[in-house]
Amino acid sequence: MGNPPSPIIIITAPSGAGKTSITRYLLQKYPYLAFSVSAATRQPRGTEKDGVDYYFITEEDFQKKIAANEFVEWEMVYQGKYYGTLHSELNRIWQQQQVPMLDIDVKGAIHVQQQYPEQCFSLFIEPPSLDELKNRLLARGTETEESLQARLGKAAFEISFKNYFDQVIVNDRLEDACAAAEKAIGEFLQSKQFRQQIIHS
Ligand code: 5GP
Repeated sequence: MGNPPSPIIIITAPSGAGKTSITRYLLQKYPYLAFSVSAATRQPRGTEKDGVDYYFITEEDFQKKIAANEFVEWEMVYQGKYYGTLHSELNRIWQQQQVPMLDIDVKGAIHVQQQYPEQCFSLFIEPPSLDELKNRLLARGTETEESLQARLGKAAFEISFKNYFDQVIVNDRLEDACAAAEKAIGEFLQSKQFRQQIIHS
């Protein structure tokens, strides 16, 4: 797209806050949004596909891409597992006249905003409380006592950064949080700066 600047939408949250459900809702609601596929060194899970959910690459390839400055940002999100947003991915989406939507962790989100301060609109999805987050993680049934405590500790830390983002949405009821996110993104994309670039659905 070039000039005026191409928008970027970022959705970030502590694990278990409902970020993935909200991201899916927005992608289906706004066809001009395109999911930004990150590179990751973890193994695919379940029905995940290479090039759709992630670009699944080896740690060696990931390191080469870091050295070649191919990442907008990258993080070791979990012990030994790297995740990163590629410049080539943002360019691919902009070239097809769409708006990239990044579902990334809090540190990564802050780094993208620092690099593209004029172009980003960021949503922080906040759980109603840490107790509620604990209940949701327990309901998933995938956590050990140790991983549960680690996620809750990380969540408290991440929530302390919520004011770095353009809008905070408390996900108490998923339906309400989806509606609030839809409204916020609609307003951002209708703003004078980006209006001409968006193909209305
Ligand atoms: P999962 O392994 O469950 O798919 O994702 C783990 C976490 O990594 C999620 O919070 C997800 O948002 C985050 N993540 C996914 N892609 C990226 C990325 O490119 N950069 C960063 N910093 N985090 C990412």
